[in-house]
Amino acid sequence: MTEHGEVAIVGAGLTGCLLACFLARRGHQVTLYERRADPRGRPPERGRSINLALSERGIDALRRIGLDDRILAGALPMRGRMVHPVHGTPGFQPYSVRGDRAINSIGRGALNDALLEAATALPGVRAVFGHRLTGLDPATGEMVFRTGDGEAKATAAVVLGADGAGSAVRARLKEYGTLTEDVDHLEHGYKELTVPPRDGDFALDPGALHIWPRGTSMVIALPNPDRSFTCTLFWPRTGPGGFASLATAEAVERHFAAEYPDLVPLIPGLSDDYLRNPVGTLGTVRCASWHAAGRVGLVGDAAHAIVPFYGQGANCAFEDVVALDRCLDDTGGDFAAALPLFEARRREDTEAIADMALANFVEMRDKVASPLFQLGRRAEHALERALPGRYVSRYELVSFSTVPYARVRRRVRRQHQVVAALAAAAALALGAIAVRRGP
Ligand SMILES: Cc1cc2nc3c(=O)[nH]c(=O)nc-3n(C[C@H](O)[C@H](O)[C@H](O)COP(=O)(O)OP(=O)(O)OC[C@H]3O[C@@H](n4cnc5c(N)ncnc54)[C@H](O)[C@@H]3O)c2cc1C
Repeated sequence: MTEHGEVAIVGAGLTGCLLACFLARRGHQVTLYERRADPRGRPPERGRSINLALSERGIDALRRIGLDDRILAGALPMRGRMVHPVHGTPGFQPYSVRGDRAINSIGRGALNDALLEAATALPGVRAVFGHRLTGLDPATGEMVFRTGDGEAKATAAVVLGADGAGSAVRARLKEYGTLTEDVDHLEHGYKELTVPPRDGDFALDPGALHIWPRGTSMVIALPNPDRSFTCTLFWPRTGPGGFASLATAEAVERHFAAEYPDLVPLIPGLSDDYLRNPVGTLGTVRCASWHAAGRVGLVGDAAHAIVPFYGQGANCAFEDVVALDRCLDDTGGDFAAALPLFEARRREDTEAIADMALANFVEMRDKVASPLFQLGRRAEHALERALPGRYVSRYELVSFSTVPYARVRRRVRRQHQVVAALAAAAALALGAIAVRRGP
C-alpha cells in the first residue's frame, strides 16, 4: 500500500479528528466521514458527556502536533477530589504527592471543534458531514453511507473506524467474519445535570473534581469555563435509588434532599432537568481483531471503549493515535503491516486500563469516603516522598505519565507486594520485641 494513498476515517469525533491531523502530517489525503451535521458552534448533543478530564497522555498527543497550549487555554485544572459527605464539610484529597499536578476539565464540544478545525486546516484533509456509514467491503475499501439525499458510495485505500463505542465499522468487520466482540454493559447508567453560576461565580470550588460517594452510586461535578459545573449521576438503572425508581418530581426531590442535601440549592429546576435528561449507557468493549484485509482498522472507543471512571477513554484514544503513528514509522508507512502491529503493541495496554477503570468505580463511589482509604492515601503519599521515583501511586502513573498502562499495572502490583512484605516484617519485629519485653 502506498504511503500517500487516500485514507477514509469514519467518525469526526475526538479520535478521528486527531488521527486526521497525524495522517495529514505524513502526507496522506484524508476524508473524515461523520454522521452528524458539522458540530462547530452548535450546542452539545444531548446524552453525550459535556465535559471530560484531559490528562498527560492526551496532552502528550496534542503536544506532538503543537495543539496543547491552544487547547489547554480553555481548560480548568483540577488538583484533587473534593469529597462531599451526606452531612458535614467536604474534604479535599490532592491527586499528586506535591499537590501541584492537575487533570484538566475541558468541554467536549470545544475540544472536538478545535481538533476538527486543526484537521481541516491541513492540506489534504476534508470533512464530509451527514454521512452515516452503513456498509463496508473490507476487501475493496468500498463504503456505503446514508445521507440526507439518499445513499452515497465512496472507496478508499485505507478505512479507519474512529466511530466510537457503537462502531458501525466494527459491526461490518463482525459480519465480514474477522472480528468477534464482547460488549459488557454496566448495570449503572449516567445522567447529566447543570449547576449554574451563583452570583456570577462558580457555585463550588473550580480547582477540584467534586464527588458525592454514596456506596453503590455516586455523583461527580466538573467545572466549565462559563462558571457552571456539569454534574454526572452514576446510578444503577433499576432497584432502590436507581434511575427507574425516581419517576416523579416529588421522588426526585426527596431522594436528593436525603442523599445530596448540599446539591439541592445549587440546581434550580432540579427535578425538571432530572426528568427531562436522558440516561446514557456505559460499558466496556473488548474485540479482536482490530484490523482486516490489510486496509481496515479500528481505533479509539471503536476498538476498546471503557467505563469513564479513570477519566481515560479519550486520553487512551489519543495515545492510540500516537501509537499508530509510531507503527507507521516502523513499517515504512505500510498500513497492511502497521495495523496488526498496532493491535499487537496496544492490546495489553487497553485491556489494563479497561480493568483499572472498572476498579476505580468502586474506589470513587465507595472507598474515597472511608477514613481507612484516606489513611492509606496519606501513607502512599508519605512513601512517595520517602522514595521519590521508586514508589509512585497508580493514580500518578495513570494520569500524570505516559508509562504504558500494562506496565503501570505490573509496577503497582510489585509496589504493593513490597509494601505488604515490609508491613509483615515490621509486624513480626514488633511482635518479637513485645515477647522479649514480656507482659
Ligand atoms: C459520561 C462520560 C464521561 C467521560 N469522561 C471522560 C474523561 O473525563 N476523560 C476521558 O479521557 N474520557 C472520558 N470519557 C470517554 C470519552 O468520551 C471517549 O473515550 C471518547 O469520546 C472516544 O472518542 P472517539 O472519537 O473514539 O469516539 P466518539 O467520541 O464516540 O466519536 C465517534 C464519532 O463517530 C461518529 N459516528 C458514529 N457512528 C458513525 C457512523 N456510522 N458513520 C459516521 N460517523 C459515525 C459520531 O457521531 C462521533 O462523532 C467519558 C465518557 C463518558 C460516557
